[in-house]
Amino acid sequence: MKIITTLLCLLGGLAMAAEQQISLVIHGGAGTIKRDQLSTEQEQAIKQSLQDALNAGYAVLEGGGDSTQAIIAAIKVMEDAPHFNAGKGAVYTKPGKHELDASIMRGSDLQAGAVAGVSFTKNPIMAAEQVMLNSPHVMLAGSGADTFSKLRGLEQVENNYFDTEARFKAWQEVDAKTRAKQAETADGQDVLDAEFKFGTVGAVAFDQHGTIAAGTSTGGMTYKAWGRIGDSPVIGAGTYADNRSCGISATGHGEFFIRYAVAHDICARVRYQGKSLQQAADEVIMQELNEVGGSGGIIGMDPQGNPVMVFNTPGMYRGYRTPEKSAVAIYGDE
Ligand code: ASP
Repeated sequence: MKIITTLLCLLGGLAMAAEQQISLVIHGGAGTIKRDQLSTEQEQAIKQSLQDALNAGYAVLEGGGDSTQAIIAAIKVMEDAPHFNAGKGAVYTKPGKHELDASIMRGSDLQAGAVAGVSFTKNPIMAAEQVMLNSPHVMLAGSGADTFSKLRGLEQVENNYFDTEARFKAWQEVDAKTRAKQAETADGQDVLDAEFKFGTVGAVAFDQHGTIAAGTSTGGMTYKAWGRIGDSPVIGAGTYADNRSCGISATGHGEFFIRYAVAHDICARVRYQGKSLQQAADEVIMQELNEVGGSGGIIGMDPQGNPVMVFNTPGMYRGYRTPEKSAVAIYGDE
């Protein structure tokens, strides 16, 4: 009897330990982020926003909420902050507007939702959630996606709500470079300089029920062509979640992330090759993508709630929180 009671206590203890293991990891974009580009004030403001996002998402997990709600809470904070290329602060398209992409995926049942090229939805991550929960589809694009989000009661804004001076300056620089290049070579090519494009946001969470959820939200790439869709709303490229392997949110040069199906490839290596998430992510980001010039990074979560952060760029805005540890960072050497 005593043995059985001890066993039951032990099992109860294990179950409790499993329940308590909650975890959240976030990113605010990867790219050429170096110390000499950010003032101390900018650095502090960005780190504060990352911390606010972590706190918002982690509070949901601590309160017993699920991982989907946790990543939405974290991403919403970053969409509303002007420092990141998502929501307020999104980059400008070639014609000088904003077109936003977002996606979300739940690892317990592989449900997913995405919106691409929305112009009036204040928080695209919430529209992605609505597509997942309240439509028979996975992805809605353009004006249809905006109409759907309005019908679902989500807040709508004018397109210039997303304006910021810093992003406009970046657009002007690329525009000037493009014009100079066109005058020089007459080849009609636009400048798509990866150095300018960072700030996409994402989050991956592990809740007390062991469910992983991942989400990503972005304004895309500065000077992108009308209607260009990046990897962020593409399930398997910019976002993926499967409790059997991992959850991923990516940031970087979207065309590469789509062609290499980055988020799914990492999870597939975990699932079929039995690799750790760290190893799988290192292989895809530091080897495969690096070799072909695909710059960027990922955040991820394994089925035990361990966060990983991998990037092949000089920096990635990032942070994580587990019951034991919490940190936010910007540069590659911290
Ligand atoms: N991946 C995003 C895109 O290509 C951009 C980024 O992450 O910075 O749209």
